[in-house]
Amino acid sequence: AARQAPRYLEGLNPEQRLAVETTEGPVLVLAGAGTGKTRVLTTRIAHILATGKAFPSQILAVTFTNKAAREMKTRVEILVGQAVEGMPWLGTFHSIGVKILRRHAELIGLSSSFTILDTDDQVRLMKQLIQAEGIDDKRWPARQFAMMVDGWKNKGLAPADIPEGDSRAFAGGRGRALYAAYQERLKTLNAVDFGDLLMHPIRIFREYPDVLADYHRKFRYILVDEYQDTNTAQYLWLRLLAQRPRRSAPEGAGAEERSAPVNICCVGDDDQSIYGWRGAEVDNILRFEKDFPGAKVIRLERNYRSTAHILGAASHLIAHNEGRLGKTLYTEHVDPDDVKVKVHAAWDSEEEARAVGEEIEALQAKGHALNDMAILVRASFQMREFEDRFVTLGLNYRVIGGPRFYERQEIRDALAYFRVVAQGADDLAFERIVNVPKRGLGEAAVRQIHDVARLRNTSLLQAARDLVGTEEMKPKQRSALRNLVESFERWQGMLDRTPHTELAELILEESGYIDMWKNDRSAEAPGRLENLKELIRSMEEYESLRGFLEHVALVMDAERDEELDAVNLMTLHSAKGLEFDTVFLPGWEEGLFPHQRSLDEGGRAGLEEERRLAYVGLTRAKKNLHIWFASNRRIHGLWQSTIPSRFLDELPEAHVEVVEEASAYGGYGRPLGHRQPGRPNPYGPSRFDEAGDVFSSSYATPGWQRAQKNRTDATARNWGTRSGHQVERIGYGE
Ligand code: ATP
Ligand code: MG
Repeated sequence: AARQAPRYLEGLNPEQRLAVETTEGPVLVLAGAGTGKTRVLTTRIAHILATGKAFPSQILAVTFTNKAAREMKTRVEILVGQAVEGMPWLGTFHSIGVKILRRHAELIGLSSSFTILDTDDQVRLMKQLIQAEGIDDKRWPARQFAMMVDGWKNKGLAPADIPEGDSRAFAGGRGRALYAAYQERLKTLNAVDFGDLLMHPIRIFREYPDVLADYHRKFRYILVDEYQDTNTAQYLWLRLLAQRPRRSAPEGAGAEERSAPVNICCVGDDDQSIYGWRGAEVDNILRFEKDFPGAKVIRLERNYRSTAHILGAASHLIAHNEGRLGKTLYTEHVDPDDVKVKVHAAWDSEEEARAVGEEIEALQAKGHALNDMAILVRASFQMREFEDRFVTLGLNYRVIGGPRFYERQEIRDALAYFRVVAQGADDLAFERIVNVPKRGLGEAAVRQIHDVARLRNTSLLQAARDLVGTEEMKPKQRSALRNLVESFERWQGMLDRTPHTELAELILEESGYIDMWKNDRSAEAPGRLENLKELIRSMEEYESLRGFLEHVALVMDAERDEELDAVNLMTLHSAKGLEFDTVFLPGWEEGLFPHQRSLDEGGRAGLEEERRLAYVGLTRAKKNLHIWFASNRRIHGLWQSTIPSRFLDELPEAHVEVVEEASAYGGYGRPLGHRQPGRPNPYGPSRFDEAGDVFSSSYATPGWQRAQKNRTDATARNWGTRSGHQVERIGYGE
């Protein structure tokens, strides 16, 4: 007898349903943007739980951000209709990596309270090592080395795996030795970097088959979102967890236990692979069927997110890429009220921000929620202009995805204090604040502490403690250091007794750190004090200081003020997987988007990755999509005139409307079509000729050309005065 389908399956199309119900064996869902891949994963978890195929704790789900993980958890609970007891392991590769590593840290010589270093710490540590080796760190900068090490770790390579050839690229063949020294140093510090959060578990899985076998028994269902952006290390990590060897069950286990495979389901879209620069390997998708024989590949073709205009624009753009698997994508979302994709021109980035702000206010006045709007930028520096504008307008906004807030100097200093309190052996943190505020413990004093630490093989804090008991320091310094050491002891003693926000406040007060900024006369000081307040406030959301510090180390989402209605501001890279009613895409200019660096370093492949990024941007929009370009932009402090992005030429005319900004450019003419006759395209033959239905060079109107010609003089004449742009407009508005 046909049973009624459970509620959570309702509304799924047949392919989605197949992907949900094929719980056993490897499954790959390969589908375009907005086709419901993430929804399939969520529903799949609900289905596994509802049918009793596994306990929550037997499910491992990897998402792109921690925020996505939390959303997925909430949605599963709604689908299942109850709170899920004993949560599935839901999180990013990194956060799951931390969890695994905390459990087994001692297997690789760490204690479970290890610290997670951020990039800044990492670079500082490397610099010390490079200098200690007598290598000129001007010629061989630590930052470059940090990038190399990250690259190796993304590929899953330990020092021993580094090919000699690779090694020669740094300081005359010393890269590999330095890498090994760096790992040793991390171990002494009881610290790991981000790459280690994958590398260490991989090593543990490989060296301790029993541990791995435990995980094989534990995780019966593995689910991975955004599979196209996994790097080699993540891929190795997944493969270890998902490929259960036949003999991994213990003696005496039942036959079923012994042979039961781990069921893996990955979903992805090769057109949205945008982390190649960080080592992501889109080929992992192609390898899936080889690695997991008998894998079922399911394709979803109906897009539920966007209007036909938006989807049409996105599909047409991405068709310009050559390296594609190719997919069908259609929508039934066709409404006579649907608006075309709008392309706007602005004189400069300030005007761009102002016009976007006006558009947002207009939408808000019509009753649209700010939460449903997003501005997606190519480079984070573009954000400031919008932030400034929003502050002026009093528009709420939030920055998603960037560790921006936590990167601020005052925040980093405060965190360093907290870190030393939570983990006394955190030398990098100690060093950061030992003389902040100034206590007369300058370089010489720090060197003394370092010497003692090295001699006795202890942490800097312990060394400082030891030094205070000797006559080795000048009395003034000794008393300053004693003061600091005793303070840390006192704070550490309070760690488990005092509410952590209270303690945090106390630390910043007693250390003199707050006073330092109170006495600071600079213009930024008041803002810094506010940021510190905000820091304390944000800690309330965590149960302990350690929990908070862990969050900070992992932070990828700055999703504070979740309840507030606010415009979302983020980079295109962190917009992956998200959707908004209205999306603004500013800065579509050659050199910015596509980004010059990608073109210089990646050539054709770099350009194609930029185009995928554009595709990700376009496909975030549900109803309204606004693209902007500015004719002038300040890059690295210098005003430069720009030409519109080639991606604008790649949009299909049928779905795009070029908006004349009457206010700014009466009679300015069509802003597109920047390819003036005779202008060589530096990137080879343009594809727009073949595409046929896009803007052609004949749109380069006299108005446009005049704008191009005059701008240098105009720029020289008028920039630097607040009203410069207005003066400009008079010049062009004829
Ligand atoms: P991306 O590639 O951007 O990550 P995706 O393939 O993961 O997209 P989802 O985010 O899962 O797509 O879904 C896109 C939108 O379509 C969501 O709002 C989702 O709720 C909706 N959706 C998906 N499937 C259906 C369906 N069968 N019926 C109605 N809405 C659906
Ligand atoms: Mg998704």
